[in-house]
Amino acid sequence: MDLKPYAADPKKTKGRCFQEKKSPLRNDFQRDRDRVIHSVGFRRLMYKTQVFVNHEGDMYRTRLTHSLEVAQIARGICRSLGLNEDLAETIALAHDLGHTPFGHAGQDALNECMRPYGGFEHNLQSLRIVDVLEKRYLNFNGLNLTYESREGILKHCSKKNARILGELGERFLNCKQTSLEAQVVNFADEIAYTVHDLDDGFRSGILSFESLIKLPIIKEVFEVIQERDKFSKSQIMNECMRLLLYKLVSDFTFQSKATIQKENFLSIEDVRKHKNQAVGFSQQIKDCMKIIKQYTHKNLFQHKKVVEMTENAKSTVFKLFDYFEKNTNTLPQSYQKKENPYLGLCDYISGMTDRFAIDLASKL
Ligand code: MG
Repeated sequence: MDLKPYAADPKKTKGRCFQEKKSPLRNDFQRDRDRVIHSVGFRRLMYKTQVFVNHEGDMYRTRLTHSLEVAQIARGICRSLGLNEDLAETIALAHDLGHTPFGHAGQDALNECMRPYGGFEHNLQSLRIVDVLEKRYLNFNGLNLTYESREGILKHCSKKNARILGELGERFLNCKQTSLEAQVVNFADEIAYTVHDLDDGFRSGILSFESLIKLPIIKEVFEVIQERDKFSKSQIMNECMRLLLYKLVSDFTFQSKATIQKENFLSIEDVRKHKNQAVGFSQQIKDCMKIIKQYTHKNLFQHKKVVEMTENAKSTVFKLFDYFEKNTNTLPQSYQKKENPYLGLCDYISGMTDRFAIDLASKL
């Protein structure tokens, strides 16, 4: 890997909370990635919703396939920019670990239940999974990931919680940046869900072919497809999605490369100290993305079928929370936290897969 001076370098990592012997075969970021892949939290992503509830159909994205797509996009971009692919891959694979069942609906519901007790932040929960909840090692709890992986996983954090996180929380208080690798993953996330929400929306029959081909970028790529009559609508839409993805990734990569060169960063610390994020889309693509997001929001997320799924999902979380709040003694032993029962309650509910949550709620 030909790394630029501003890339994250595993040899210069700020290290792990618990000292460990170095591996002779893998660098620290590769080890982090492998730890995430072997974790229980990662496997659970397979049965957690992205937009469509897991049992709605087998061809939709789940949190697992979404995370793999984010990792793939982020790695490609990092390779073009001379950044560390292993670190980006780790962050991407772990970025949604703390998500509740039922996607954003589940997250909103749990946050609402937790509002009187400090709220629920899924980014913080992702960090809690890799720092505390995974139990795979004899000498420590959690996965004992490097500082750089943990920094990337904690994408957002309230100031209140940032104050108790030490060095990791400082950037939220002092408006500092993360590594470029973590910044790239945030955009890879946005690219992945922008494209796959449209794709899944089309496959589900909710988003029409005719409305999709009027969208910016898609209209442009649609019009250059030759002999369109020869192909089915789904073949053409696959091609449009492929080209949309390519356009977003290439715009982001060229735009970011130009900005990084202009800033003349000499180290990762220069990146962290910089006043803004150094990567992003061109203004033209930003405008297009805004229109696509408004379209998806109105036509997919507010669609009757999706709203119905969302409402069912929320009521499942409300039911589970209500029951276990009143009956904390019925939580599995490892989730019973006398000193802070709500922490155990959140760990339990947020760790559930869609089908486990539905099954359990139906028995209460
Ligand atoms: Mg995501």
